[in-house]
Amino acid sequence: MAKNISENFLTNNIFIFNSYSCIPTVERIYPSPSEVNETLKVYADKQSPITFAFGSKVGLVRLNKNGSIAESNILGKITAIPGGKIENYFTFFKRNGFLFPLSFSNFDSVDVVALQAIIDRLHATLELISTITDMSRTSYEKISRLIFYHIFAPVVEIETNGEKYTYRSTLHPYTINHDSACSLVHEKRLDDTFNNVSFDFKDTISQITLTADFVSKMLNGCPPENKYDNDNFKRIFAMYCAPRTIISKRDQIINDFLFHYCIEIGMVERVDLSKILFYNGEVDKTHFSEEMKKAALLTAKIIIKEEIELNLRRLKATYDINKMEPAWKIDSLLSALYFGLFYMRPNSEIYRRCANPRCGEFFLVSVSSQKKKYCCKACMNRAMAARKRAKTKIEESKMK
Ligand SMILES: [Zn+2]
Repeated sequence: MAKNISENFLTNNIFIFNSYSCIPTVERIYPSPSEVNETLKVYADKQSPITFAFGSKVGLVRLNKNGSIAESNILGKITAIPGGKIENYFTFFKRNGFLFPLSFSNFDSVDVVALQAIIDRLHATLELISTITDMSRTSYEKISRLIFYHIFAPVVEIETNGEKYTYRSTLHPYTINHDSACSLVHEKRLDDTFNNVSFDFKDTISQITLTADFVSKMLNGCPPENKYDNDNFKRIFAMYCAPRTIISKRDQIINDFLFHYCIEIGMVERVDLSKILFYNGEVDKTHFSEEMKKAALLTAKIIIKEEIELNLRRLKATYDINKMEPAWKIDSLLSALYFGLFYMRPNSEIYRRCANPRCGEFFLVSVSSQKKKYCCKACMNRAMAARKRAKTKIEESKMK
């Protein structure tokens, strides 16, 4: 699949990352006939070193030995792999190696659920960036879902290379500050509820008045209605009641958005990569005001910043004294993928999802090419053929 975008890509890029191909296998243990524990077993193949490079307009690519491109759009490829079955990732890992450094001599055991959560999170960040940068396709519903996903997704950990390497998925600064703010506010605000009938809150989005009865019941952990009996919302509420002076502006923006969303649009019970589940299925999307749209965009941008910065914390700037050039020391393929997001220029290039439903791969496209809907010609032809088939089917059924 070699592409001749640039024959000497190796000398013409922003960063290089060296790794090894990986040999994957899966171990299944059945504690009972209806249960299965899956563990991915992987090791690095010393005989197959591989090199990646990142360049503007092409993103992260894997190179051939002569420096030409062997495989393009690595980020789009990994996020398009359908989850659910770990074997689906095997071809990718064999070609591009594992997300983290592996041992050459021993199997590393990787929890499949944790691995999927890490890939889903990368996927969510890519999708959030692409949704807010591609304004012609912006969907506030999707932005809100991805915000909740980033904030409340489980934190997972993977150890590789004989436990010498540990990766822990992002715990947002907001989430950490959340806990301390919640414990601080409690006593003070509860005292106030004895002396007031109601509270006027003026936040970064709008103003709201809440009765002292409501506030005290919420803070005492016995919500006035079942729908408020939700651990995430109780925490959001406690932070909302905290004095603004003890909370950073950034955390106020995030928390105000979450609070208004739960109160005005729907109480979020659970969220995954593709959907939000609301309490009793009750949701009112008509309440998404202009102020909420602004808040959603701002919150999304803060989350993207935190997500990328936290995932680049292991990167090191180095200086190549032979070439007298800047260079980067990159620890893992996952860091290289996030580094690719870091270098994206939303004013000139964006990731867009391929409109062929059987592909769904994100591909890099110039901002000016509004019309490009498919990642490649083959996808365009396949989608057109599928539409034609569907049309003929409808016409045939009408004839009957
Ligand atoms: Zn495609």
